[in-house]
Amino acid sequence: MITGKNYIGSQLKDSNNQITFRTFDPVANSENDWVFYEATEDEINEACRLALMSFKEFQNTSDQIRAQFLRDIADNIEVLGETLLEVYQKESGLDLVRARAERARTTYQLRMFADFIETSGWRGDSFEVAEPNRSPNPKPSLFKTYLPIGPIAVFGASNFPFAYSTAGGDTASAFAAGCPVIVKSHPMHAGTGEMVASAISNAVIKNNLPKGIFSNLNAQGYQVGAALVSHPMVKGVGFTGSITGGRALLDISSKRPEPIPVFAEMGSVNPVVVSNGALQENMKQWVQSYADSITNGTGQFCTNPGLIMGLEGLQLNEFISELSKEIDSRKNTVMLNPSIANSFKKLRNDVLSQQDVKQESTNASDNVNYGIQTIASVSGKAFIENPKLHHEVFGPFSLVVKCKDLVELEQTISSLEGQLTATLIATSNEFREFESVISTLSNKVGRIVYNGVPTGVEVTQAMTHGGPFPASTDSRFTAVGTDSIKRWLRPITFQNFPKELLPSGLVRM
Ligand code: NAP
Repeated sequence: MITGKNYIGSQLKDSNNQITFRTFDPVANSENDWVFYEATEDEINEACRLALMSFKEFQNTSDQIRAQFLRDIADNIEVLGETLLEVYQKESGLDLVRARAERARTTYQLRMFADFIETSGWRGDSFEVAEPNRSPNPKPSLFKTYLPIGPIAVFGASNFPFAYSTAGGDTASAFAAGCPVIVKSHPMHAGTGEMVASAISNAVIKNNLPKGIFSNLNAQGYQVGAALVSHPMVKGVGFTGSITGGRALLDISSKRPEPIPVFAEMGSVNPVVVSNGALQENMKQWVQSYADSITNGTGQFCTNPGLIMGLEGLQLNEFISELSKEIDSRKNTVMLNPSIANSFKKLRNDVLSQQDVKQESTNASDNVNYGIQTIASVSGKAFIENPKLHHEVFGPFSLVVKCKDLVELEQTISSLEGQLTATLIATSNEFREFESVISTLSNKVGRIVYNGVPTGVEVTQAMTHGGPFPASTDSRFTAVGTDSIKRWLRPITFQNFPKELLPSGLVRM
């Protein structure tokens, strides 16, 4: 059952807040029935106080206890069954296949972190023995390990109600590290969020963990999120969303008396460089793959290929024409929410109205809340000179840049901001020709793909999901995969400490 209340310290609390809101079903084009109560100032303070109070006990739990906790969350999410999937669909317009796949990814992430923290040496501790007879100075013994940083505020994204939200990657990795979590629930899927919050709270109780390690706060506006990030008891932030949102939270953090790390994963246009040789060899395959990648999930992925670059020529022209035809032949699909659909329309029209931009696809849609999948093209020169063309159009949109030569292609890449991904499509014979392009692309991104599409992010140790600003606020870290736990840990060195005096939970020498 969805109550609309907030979870404070793993318990549902009656909220007296007059500020309420509902979620929206974009397919039915109507509000859902559930009413959500925005978290009050008292509830925010209580959630933060309980989180900090519970931190010491939680950080000293064994890896096995936290692993069991993560597995129980995954099990509890599955127990919520079809009802959870129905709520997910009613709050996002995403279909059942996607709902199932995203739930599977979310429970996989939780279990992956459980397995990971049960592997000995996962923190990467190091130990150096004392050398009392070293000359001229004796060397002390040094044990370096990693401690969790404290309560983390987690902001979910609209486009991943499971995998980047309440029990998504940020929450799973923070719990695995030993950090309490306060979720600022995404207002577009607050019902899904409350149900997943019940799965987490039940796992807290079952494992006898301190209840303060988890809270889930509802909010429609920015105040609750801003209050969390400025709260002195919050010690870190995990955010997935827009560049504007991530930047705002980073600015709030930097103005705190004690600034805290804000790990924001934000938008990206994910440049793709396509060679004429590759198009000549496999035109049909690349047209199909890119039509799929651009329209999958109505293009609402941070790794959507929003920018495709190539060298002027017959093959690139044919690619643009075939891709546009393929896109036009597909049905329009619904977007997550009216505000996302309206934002898409506005950003799309902004780009299409720029000088020298040519709309290549022709499909249209009268359906409110539906995306109009779009291919447009522009010359390299016009692109480089107009920064308005460099920004993400969140939805099924891709701009093809026609460069006159390799020099202009590299200038085009250099004009871009930091990105999550880049892709090179080229034949093996052409590879050498693109060596410099690969190096230029590598300096812009967190992941570079060869002969593939950027959508689809493997959840694994070798994955990097991040990139130079504004793709993320700290390009040294990843938000996906086991290494994402490093965001919530800090190094500490114990010098000359006998093993038996190390804090409990840290005896790993
Ligand atoms: P969003 O509008 O930035 O919202 C994300 C969360 O941040 C929401 O809870 C939102 O609260 C909050 N927020 C936004 N601006 C804020 C501010 N100024 N102060 C306080 N809180 C603020 O993003 P979205 O629409 O959910 O997601 C779409 C965007 O996310 C796209 O740009 C997409 O590329 C990006 N994305 C990135 C990744 C990645 O891994 N890099 C993954 C998925 C999506 P309210 O809703 O209450 O405003």
